[in-house]
Amino acid sequence: MFNFLTGYVMGERAAARAATYTRGAAASSAALGQTQLGDLNDRIDRVLLVMDALWDLLKEQGYTDEQLMERIRALDSSDGTLDGRRTPTPVACPKCGSMIAPGRDTCVFCGAASPAAPDPLSGV
Ligand SMILES: [Zn+2]
Repeated sequence: MFNFLTGYVMGERAAARAATYTRGAAASSAALGQTQLGDLNDRIDRVLLVMDALWDLLKEQGYTDEQLMERIRALDSSDGTLDGRRTPTPVACPKCGSMIAPGRDTCVFCGAASPAAPDPLSGV
């Protein structure tokens, strides 16, 4: 479809050149996507490994699966919705009152430190 429309509008040589660029861009984009997906999978694997190790340590200290599930539900619902995830909310800058986006350490307007607790999983 693209080749036909481009050829109709721009001529056959321009259409062939455009098709080459399009294929190259798609291949580059797909390769970049695969790399990013691989990096994300590696990070998820590391987080799961750390979580398994932590849970093993806590079970050795006497914590139970039921206690874990109760805590998960409490954290999940702390944002107002029991939906299987926590939705971070922005916090007000203590200096200028602007809203600081979740995950930011400082206010983008005045540079003050965010009053939100640092994310323990940032950089994981
Ligand atoms: Zn500020």
